[in-house]
Amino acid sequence: MKNIISLSASKIAEEVSSGNLKAEEVVQAHLERIKTEDPKVRAFITVLEENALAAAREIDSKRSHGKKLGKLAGVPVAVKDNILVEGVETTCASKILKGFKAPYDATITQKLKKEDAVIIGKTNLDEFAMGSSNENSAFFKTKNPWNLETVPGGSSGGSAAAVAARMAPLSLASDTGGSIRQPASFCGLVGVKPTYGAVSRYGLIAFASSLDQIGPMARSVEDAALLLSSIAGHDPKDSTSAPQAQNRFSGKPLENVRGLKIGIPREYFAEGLDPEVRKSVWNAVDYLKTLGAEVKDVTLPHTSYAVATYYIIAPSEAASNLARFDGVRYGYRAQNIKSLSELYEKSRGEGFGPEVKRRIMLGTYALSSGYYDAYYNRAQKARTLIARDFENVFKEVDFLATPTAPSVAFKFGEKSADPVAMYLSDIFTIPSNLAGNASLSIPCGLNKDHLPIGLQLIAPAFEDEKLLALAATVEKAVNFPQLN
Ligand code: GLN
Repeated sequence: MKNIISLSASKIAEEVSSGNLKAEEVVQAHLERIKTEDPKVRAFITVLEENALAAAREIDSKRSHGKKLGKLAGVPVAVKDNILVEGVETTCASKILKGFKAPYDATITQKLKKEDAVIIGKTNLDEFAMGSSNENSAFFKTKNPWNLETVPGGSSGGSAAAVAARMAPLSLASDTGGSIRQPASFCGLVGVKPTYGAVSRYGLIAFASSLDQIGPMARSVEDAALLLSSIAGHDPKDSTSAPQAQNRFSGKPLENVRGLKIGIPREYFAEGLDPEVRKSVWNAVDYLKTLGAEVKDVTLPHTSYAVATYYIIAPSEAASNLARFDGVRYGYRAQNIKSLSELYEKSRGEGFGPEVKRRIMLGTYALSSGYYDAYYNRAQKARTLIARDFENVFKEVDFLATPTAPSVAFKFGEKSADPVAMYLSDIFTIPSNLAGNASLSIPCGLNKDHLPIGLQLIAPAFEDEKLLALAATVEKAVNFPQLN
């Protein structure tokens, strides 16, 4: 048997189901890897050593009693620390939630358990998923396993680093403006932001509810598809979950690329794009051309409004969602206080970090009377125009191909002093959240410093299956070298 930590999730599930491998051995191998790698990478806020071993033993005993195992039999999954796992601390990498134990499982956590996955730990993020580098975590900075001096991306940097460093074959993350795709791009992984409504958000601590979506990160398209198949589908507990949500994704390459129309939105290849990223993305597009795809220059004319629109809508929703953290109900509570308002003020003042406070202030301002029309309402109108751009372009083409991010992973400190420079890291990923369509990032090469480059593919809403198939087609040609 090959080194366990190098096996794909699909292979692990197959071997555990057929009895060639014990879930306990699989979990043990990954826990050992965490012990050697995580002190350097720091992907995990919590490692669930005992729970994971107990769950693995239970899976092994189920099998030995002749029961059929689920789709993720014995597969360790790392879960972003804004998703609830019953009885386990869930912090959102914020001081305000330190010590908060989840009273119930998120729907997707339940689904993981039902499919016999093993939750191996909770991963680091930018506080409340606000950031693009992991530097906003209140606890520590996760490093990019490809180069420890560079950021893993964010906000799901911990989930990305855990999979890239082989501490888990799969991870779950959330994407509000790029938080799955941008770290996937920086860490050389496949990261999928499914169509809005495809995966239940019940039990995900909300950042911006109209944009948040949960999705998988993996080292291959097939593995990402396996995890997505296990978590997707309609959930009556989430009112935004879509009744037509599918839960079968094969992750197999397209049978025929001939005649497929791929749009290249010119706004995504403008000034400021790293030339090496541009070249690598074009190589992937050229490959699709050689297979018979028709490549078309297209335009999404309202793209330049996307970042500004997002930074009105996301903070407005965040300001409302984060109002519940008041020092009374969850986590951190300030001491030596004299009145209720002082309790709120001090708990929030001491519990939230600077970026979260900035977003709450932006959102509260945008929603306040007198400014609502000027900011929030206009942003909603701009959002409609951005969504319409996609609707129009998808009348002409089947998919869009773009860079996932304008650059490869940057160094710690490079953007942290300038919030706008940081916000621009998501310039190519944000529009998809605003429109609610399906998009993913897939590695398409390495730059001269051996850092991964991500290709973003975008499809119309609920075309997730075809999107994964296209990604699998590209994956075969790229033959991306995973980290050892
Ligand atoms: N980086 C973006 C932000 O800071 C997106 C974050 C996310 O997708 N959660 O808001």
